[in-house]
Amino acid sequence: MVVSAANAAVNVNGQLFDREHAVISVFDHGFLYGEGVYETLRTYNGRPFLFDRHMHRLRTSARMIALPIPLTDAEFSTRCADTQRAAGLTGGEDREAYIRILVTRGIGALSYDPAVTPHPSVVVIVKPHVQLPESVYRSGVSAAIVSIVRNHPETVNPRIKSNNLLNCALAAQEAVRRDAFEGIMRNHRGELAECSTSNLFIVKNGQVLTPPLEAGLLPGLTRGLLFEIGAARGISVREATLLDADLFGADEAFLTSTTREIVPIVRVDDRPIASGAPGPVALALLEAFREQVHSGPRAANQL
Ligand code: PMP
Repeated sequence: MVVSAANAAVNVNGQLFDREHAVISVFDHGFLYGEGVYETLRTYNGRPFLFDRHMHRLRTSARMIALPIPLTDAEFSTRCADTQRAAGLTGGEDREAYIRILVTRGIGALSYDPAVTPHPSVVVIVKPHVQLPESVYRSGVSAAIVSIVRNHPETVNPRIKSNNLLNCALAAQEAVRRDAFEGIMRNHRGELAECSTSNLFIVKNGQVLTPPLEAGLLPGLTRGLLFEIGAARGISVREATLLDADLFGADEAFLTSTTREIVPIVRVDDRPIASGAPGPVALALLEAFREQVHSGPRAANQL
């Protein structure tokens, strides 16, 4: 699918702009200090998937940096719908939207004192959702365990979905340099934590395992949904502390994220995981996930 600049719209503090004209002040503390939080959503049938859960996570992230959120969920919903309409991305073939909601500390003097920024900035970016080719799901991807360590939870807690993304960006850059689709990060104790833009899962003896939140990672909404889908389908999905050896000795591995759903990982650091092909459990979970999201917008939002 061709992503054209015409197919993007941005709402900055309630005003709609096209891609070229959407700007924010250099005195916004989101720009100056990376002070802000965000959510990445996507639509199915034109409806932002798991909207309520994204709002809840946005508010949790904001609370963790003492940032007031100036809109209600209903106001965010209207802003997303307006911006989707402006972008012409209201659902259907090639008309699904990627939606990024950002709330930053706002504009103020060069000071860390929150008193200088009384008005948070709210930005909603809508652009076409780019679907990974089906061949990627059929063949799987390679990942690299990167040298960048996931933020210690007592520095910038990875639970905060923060605009301050250097930790993840550096991990992703290393993955790109190593020709990998994703970079897997360890935590400060050397345990596996998560990937630069997604959560990590392995399958061992029929059990689906993912590092615990306590390891220091983002509580991914796709990750959260997999616990529910697993429970509904009789597949055991649970948290477990994972080390490199668990990954290399796994029967399967996969990653999860809003925009990519469930993607099998078939090689790590140039070593095959099991047979080096996508495994049955990952593919069954992907199928179950897709059945669930396409079972109708109401059902999807009630998950
Ligand atoms: N971890 C990180 C660091 C991420 O950036 C993302 C993408 N939002 C995820 C995990 C996956 O989260 P979700 O399933 O909510 O998209």
